[in-house]
Amino acid sequence: MHHFDYRDGVLHAEDIPLPRLAVEVGTPFYCYSTATLERHYRVLAEAFAGQDAVICFAVKSNSNQAVLKTMARLGAGMDVVSEGELRRARAAGVPAEKIIFAGVGKSREEMAYALSEGIFSFNVESEPELVALSEVAEGAGVQARVAIRVNPDVDAKTHAKISTGKSENKFGIPYLAAIPLYEKARRLPGLDVSGIHMHIGSQITDLAPFRDAFRLMRDLALELRREGHAIHHLDIGGGLGVPYRGSNEVPPHPDEYAMLVRETLGDLGARIYLEPGRMIVGNAGLLVTRVLYVKDGAGKRFTIVDAAMNDLIRPTLYEAYHEVWPVLMSRLSGPRVMQDIVGPVCETGDYLAVERELPAFEAEELVAVMTAGAYGAVMSSTYNTRLLVPEVLVNGHEFAVVRPRPSYDDLIGLDRLPSWLAG
Ligand SMILES: *Cc1c(COP(=O)(O)O)cnc(C)c1O
Repeated sequence: MHHFDYRDGVLHAEDIPLPRLAVEVGTPFYCYSTATLERHYRVLAEAFAGQDAVICFAVKSNSNQAVLKTMARLGAGMDVVSEGELRRARAAGVPAEKIIFAGVGKSREEMAYALSEGIFSFNVESEPELVALSEVAEGAGVQARVAIRVNPDVDAKTHAKISTGKSENKFGIPYLAAIPLYEKARRLPGLDVSGIHMHIGSQITDLAPFRDAFRLMRDLALELRREGHAIHHLDIGGGLGVPYRGSNEVPPHPDEYAMLVRETLGDLGARIYLEPGRMIVGNAGLLVTRVLYVKDGAGKRFTIVDAAMNDLIRPTLYEAYHEVWPVLMSRLSGPRVMQDIVGPVCETGDYLAVERELPAFEAEELVAVMTAGAYGAVMSSTYNTRLLVPEVLVNGHEFAVVRPRPSYDDLIGLDRLPSWLAG
């Protein structure tokens, strides 16, 4: 469900025609819909309304300040993975007590900063990290609240690069090592170890792996309590998928997901923390690009557009599928041609779509790469000295450029010449 529709034959973001944004901002650009962001947050919040649950938006999926502020205003907490993301969440007005700090490699400086801000909890992923956090907290004269991230070794049946809950992944500590590690952690003076964290992967479209993981979490919580540990919070991670291919791929509804959480964890009396990213922002965004050239190669057509892998890396990094929609609806009833949609970057892997039956696009026309709100702009780079792609947020009949395109002087001016080359 999203708010990008054809009206009067032209693709709109809410009430704004995309060609108007292309004139004002230039292409390529990301466009986000406030109504879609709000709807996804609310559907999830309503699904968990009867449970003691806190929704912490995964900042890494889309960290634009305007998106974060939209989430913060709805009451979202945040899941951050770096000091930079923590600073973004705080700048967006998220109360520190609704922030969770995750990630396998937090530095001591980052820990100290997060403690000084008074965040709710750290998700810790190894024994040496527990020791370091305890030392930093003791040095600061505080106790750090901690959940240990446990790797349940369940197969989330998603792409290898976004699966995190298998024993061969770098994340968390092995399930069987959990009890002894909680025992050790209890003796570390700077820690208040009172939670369990699991996050098994992303773009999960089936409830079964969640069910397996939540059951293991339940068993572990009961076992830890028998051993005398106070387990007050269960962080069940994110990972709920979105439909990238229309109706071919239907992720579980948040109501079913919430029901599963209630069934498996509801009687433990622990507060539930969720860390959704993609399911909130994934289809709240698209990437608008302009066709530069159409080239018929040997047996294949290449539609060359002005967006590239540096703007949206998911197709080449994860073999991700994004629907490609013409901005002019009349194109939908015209002829279709098998083609690749490729960008200008000098890499064979620079494509946005491969071997698709799509309208016979022509030079200058606009196309929209759908479901690009999550892990899109945040993963963009300036490779090939291309300017970072701008972002636009639409809200009804209003829009704002929420990250402008930098200038070439801005970009080149980041470099410095050493003394022996200057002058
Ligand atoms: C990436 C990540 C998330 C968000 O995942 P989505 O699939 O976007 O919901 C949540 N928690 C952790 C620990 C993550 O690494």
